Amino acid sequence: MTGFQFPETLREHRPLLLACEAIGWLHMTGKAKSDFLRGHGGQKSDYEYEKWDEIENPPFPWNDLLNWAQTKFPLNGNVWPDTFTEFIRKHTKRDKGLLGLLQAGHAMASGIEKQSFPPRTVEYLGQDVTHMWLSSAFGHPVRNLLDDPPELLTETGWKRLLEQVRNLLTELEKLGSNANDLDGWWRWREGAVGIEPEGWLRKAFTSTLAETRLPNNDVTLFDQSYVAAALFKSATAGAILEGGSFPWMIKDKNGNEKANDRLKQQTRWRILTIGIGADHYEARAVKIGDWTGASLALDEFFTRVCKLVEVDLAFGSLLYRDGEVCAFSFPGERFGHDQQGYQGGNLQIADWEGWLTKQIDGYAREAKFETPPYCKISEKPSRSLVGMTAEIRKARETMAVPLHRDWQIPGQDSSDGHVCPVCLVRRSRLRADKQRPCDPCNARRTHRLDGWLKGEFRSDSIWISEVADANDRVALITMNLDIEPWLDGSRLDALRTQSIAKWAAQNTTAKKPLPEDHDSLVSFVKTALGTGNQASQARSLIQKKIAPGLKDENDNDVPWDKFYSLMVEDRTDSPSWDRIDENGRARWLTHQFFRKLASPGRIYRFQRQAEDFFKDLLVKFREIAAADLNRWRVRRLVIKPDRNGSTGSWEDQQTYNGRYGNAPISLLYRKEDNDFLTICNLARLLEPEDGKDYLSGASLDLKTDDSMEAKQLKVKSTEDAPEGLGVYHPVIPLELSPVHFRVLLPLEAASTCVDQAVHAWSDQFARVWDRLPLRVGVVAFPRMTPFQAVIEAARNMEADLAVSEHKTWRVTGCETREGVTALSIKSLDHQQELLQTIPTRLPDGREDVFYPYFAVEDKQVRFPLDFQHPDGRVFRHAKDLRSGDGVFVYPSIIETLFMDSAKKRFEPLRRRQLTEWLRMRDLWRLIGRYAPSQTALRGAWSEIIERRETWQGPDGTWLEGGKTAWLDFARAVFHERLGVRGACLETLVEAAGNGLLDWSLEWHMSVLKTSVWR
Ligand SMILES: [Zn+2]
Repeated sequence: MTGFQFPETLREHRPLLLACEAIGWLHMTGKAKSDFLRGHGGQKSDYEYEKWDEIENPPFPWNDLLNWAQTKFPLNGNVWPDTFTEFIRKHTKRDKGLLGLLQAGHAMASGIEKQSFPPRTVEYLGQDVTHMWLSSAFGHPVRNLLDDPPELLTETGWKRLLEQVRNLLTELEKLGSNANDLDGWWRWREGAVGIEPEGWLRKAFTSTLAETRLPNNDVTLFDQSYVAAALFKSATAGAILEGGSFPWMIKDKNGNEKANDRLKQQTRWRILTIGIGADHYEARAVKIGDWTGASLALDEFFTRVCKLVEVDLAFGSLLYRDGEVCAFSFPGERFGHDQQGYQGGNLQIADWEGWLTKQIDGYAREAKFETPPYCKISEKPSRSLVGMTAEIRKARETMAVPLHRDWQIPGQDSSDGHVCPVCLVRRSRLRADKQRPCDPCNARRTHRLDGWLKGEFRSDSIWISEVADANDRVALITMNLDIEPWLDGSRLDALRTQSIAKWAAQNTTAKKPLPEDHDSLVSFVKTALGTGNQASQARSLIQKKIAPGLKDENDNDVPWDKFYSLMVEDRTDSPSWDRIDENGRARWLTHQFFRKLASPGRIYRFQRQAEDFFKDLLVKFREIAAADLNRWRVRRLVIKPDRNGSTGSWEDQQTYNGRYGNAPISLLYRKEDNDFLTICNLARLLEPEDGKDYLSGASLDLKTDDSMEAKQLKVKSTEDAPEGLGVYHPVIPLELSPVHFRVLLPLEAASTCVDQAVHAWSDQFARVWDRLPLRVGVVAFPRMTPFQAVIEAARNMEADLAVSEHKTWRVTGCETREGVTALSIKSLDHQQELLQTIPTRLPDGREDVFYPYFAVEDKQVRFPLDFQHPDGRVFRHAKDLRSGDGVFVYPSIIETLFMDSAKKRFEPLRRRQLTEWLRMRDLWRLIGRYAPSQTALRGAWSEIIERRETWQGPDGTWLEGGKTAWLDFARAVFHERLGVRGACLETLVEAAGNGLLDWSLEWHMSVLKTSVWR
């Protein structure tokens, strides 16, 4: 075969590349032992985590388990370290060969994260044994690891871990000798680090820390190890591709060959982004099955892509995934690759892009996708991942045009039949049935059904008829955390790795005093950027107390512009050195010295955490949705037909709908067993005390969705549905990714679910509530509403919720007591004051100077903890806010819509602050306590609304004095008809005035049809 040979080269090295990845996962295994945490927590011991294998008795056979890799791939140029244990012992050092590449990956994952301050200067940030906390990426304390250890940190946990590691490596060696067993490789890898279901190594390492020092206890051992491994794997793949030109060896000054020990600093990476636009399929779905079927097909497509990248060619690892985009690590060239005299080979990026595009086009064609996939390798190599979000955004923007490049739609050329109602491009062979989709669209619909019948969806439902509540209503809840600006690093601007004041207090000496606040540090850095004696003194102090990287490994000064390009340009979207003056440079350097950095491990953690937030909610939602007095709510039955009394023939896997008494009934016919499975809310048919034989002998008139003709079914008997299908949760997850959570629920459960989400968000994201907003949309609809209309409404809502600009809010009060700052704050366009509490103390009693900062309107740095972004924005600690301060907030909002007709989706939506939702719910509880009856309440409400119209113009604006008069009237009505007095009366009047009462009564009485007295 001629042509592009690179893929074959990688395939030949598959065992080596995956062995490198495994080494990367495990190179810090010693940190997964409680001794490591104790040692860092001030309890002196002789435990050295870099020797964890050696101190086992007998020693862990690390070398023996990996030696095969070197025998199989001897590699030229003295590439292997003397023994495999060096990968464990020396991962933080600087060496040659493959070890150098691991060190490069490790430094990127952990070095950037730790900021590489001089060790002595940051000792004060250590945690003690009494408080060894694992924190969330947003500063929420998750677990005191030594007080309340996860299984991993117990003696048994450690033994078990070693056993699993041994198995992993044994299996690796086996696969190494049978390198073409792709499925075997895939299972091996997914079993360890897979996301769904969660691999054992992912689970174990996620429960403990890689770094114990504040505030780096936000990244888990897994985030760091996994990302380091991904980078090591990609770097090794790059070296293999460059082949003989790769500079394993370099020439020294005298022209003699020597081992290249600068790989750690030189290695860079690119990002491979692959996508396929999900919007197109979502917008065209006629039935829910079209969409869930299409997203299943997209999922399978992405799984094939992952297999290709992670296992088949093994050049990278998945770093990000949502419903329509995947991003992987990819090899990159070292510095100077675009200049003459570059030492190294050519990675042929354009050819790679072409080759990969062809591969995935093949997958897309086999899946009969109507849109072409997207495939792009990032333009520039980098030493960080901050460019990943821009790559993902670019993919989304491109894919917004479904046919963004030439694409022959598979099956488009068939000429007979009517146009398929789903894809609108292919034709369906059946002339008679205009509703019938074309073959590929139909296959997507039924494929999902097959999976469900085999139990692949576990206990979740796929039937709207099962989800519908007692009033036959359903809710689509959609949520988003606005996580993208965290992934590109921009929202990290507000997070600190140290406060300048605390750092100075810890490190200042009488002889060499340090600047104690932001402005003086900026001028100090500016001095250091200059020339002369003063400059070199300042520079030397900065190097000793903040940035050891100002000297290179040979103790030579690194020029400022070079340092700037590494420290600032490659880790932010800052202007380049040449384009700004001395002031700008000093500001950027100062900012970058003390802000939390968007390290690859941390970015990985952000997106995992967003997804985990939704995953935890889904678990709660399942519980809430399944709670019912009537156990039939979550049961399914199998109905055996009586041949006498049943008419017609039944179609396999067809759904049949009818009514029994007052309740709807839906059944799925299974030809193989000649029976029907109930796929509806049985609690509507059966009372709690009814037995399963209740339906025996019943006669049902049934129709399919698309047919007018009814068939009769006589029930012979009923049985419990078989294992796996007998009990279910009335929940249909539509999408769950770091950027999206969409789920269908019984409408009656939706309010409690939203309550839970709001509480969970306020609890876990309290320190960043102003810049990590929760956006919630609820579309309520009767079961029979066309699904296309529901999806369109949800998409409109999501677009409306995606507010990208911040709003200015005004602080009206701020008080800090017992480590909590209570902030009263008001949005400028909204009357209501909002009370936000922000924890400002860490569990061990220290002040939290890392997370709770607000971007303020003020342009001046005024308090010791204040700092200023180079673009001028000032950030202020929560406790330093004062009444009258303007702060910039990305608001959390909620929108609700009741689609009692499909036309409702065109009506304007009303954005409300998330906290209003809770107030609206509280109001309903209050009314329930005081209003005498539902009838009285309804009467009072309609009287008030009726009167309002007379005081309002046709467009809803008040006539002069109208509002006051109307509120007086409302007060009188509440007083007389509901008998409420005092504070409750005033609350109702106020709620009538600001629209909350309308929302509360409408939502609870009209939409949910609940009664306060039920
Ligand atoms: Zn179609």
